[in-house]
Amino acid sequence: MRKTVSIFGVPIDKITLEEASKRFEHILAEEKLGIITTPNTEIVMAARYDKELMEVLKRSDMNIPDGIGLIYASKIHNLGLIERVTGIDLMQKILDYCNNMNRSIFILGGKPGVEELACKKIKERFRHIEVKGYHHGYFNQDEEIDIIESINKLKPDVLFVALGAPRQEKWIYNNRKKLKAGVAIGVGGSVDIWAGTAKRAPMIYQKLGLEWFYRLIKEPWRYKRMMVLPKFMIKVLLSKNIQ
Ligand code: UDP
Repeated sequence: MRKTVSIFGVPIDKITLEEASKRFEHILAEEKLGIITTPNTEIVMAARYDKELMEVLKRSDMNIPDGIGLIYASKIHNLGLIERVTGIDLMQKILDYCNNMNRSIFILGGKPGVEELACKKIKERFRHIEVKGYHHGYFNQDEEIDIIESINKLKPDVLFVALGAPRQEKWIYNNRKKLKAGVAIGVGGSVDIWAGTAKRAPMIYQKLGLEWFYRLIKEPWRYKRMMVLPKFMIKVLLSKNIQ
């Protein structure tokens, strides 16, 4: 049974990384396309004013708590989230599973060449994964039709979509009836990390819940987007009820 908590209306799964990985297996076993999202504070705040995004998050099969702000909010309001579960860690678990079970993947997104490099690195590390295909994430509407057609011919078990949040979540949701894949998950910058064109924050930042700070140092132009984190925390502290 799925257990979620609501944070400003967004259902977030009360789940550990291990449980998320097991749940992924269940979702994959279902007939329909499963949808997994990795919301952070920014996405939760955006969903309050973005009906389409809220609908995606309410209709998906699992929303992992991928943001330290969500964990703080849960602690302050006693909602019971267990731990932060990042998209990159879940992606690793999914790849482990696909490797053990000879499953297939397709990567859609990233700069031209980056998605290919990510596939190459994944293939080197996970010999039993079938990388069925890839396509970069800078395409127009005509190209999109061809991309969906090629995904559907290949029918990958897992479709990793890296178009940046929240575009990737909306893209998956809006195409859910057309896409022939087992599970689709929005993974954003994880493709760059797999390709080696971006680095994950060192362990010390991860342990201290300061990955956002590392990203701010590395990509200072994102500061405007990241201002949402203190806004979220102020809202959490000032609200009696954040559900
Ligand atoms: N991206 C893409 N197409 C786009 C915009 C972004 O393929 O139109 C890719 C981008 O190259 C990167 C990933 O999406 O690999 C994540 O982008 P960003 O850092 O903007 O998003 P976030 O990590 O915040 O989700």
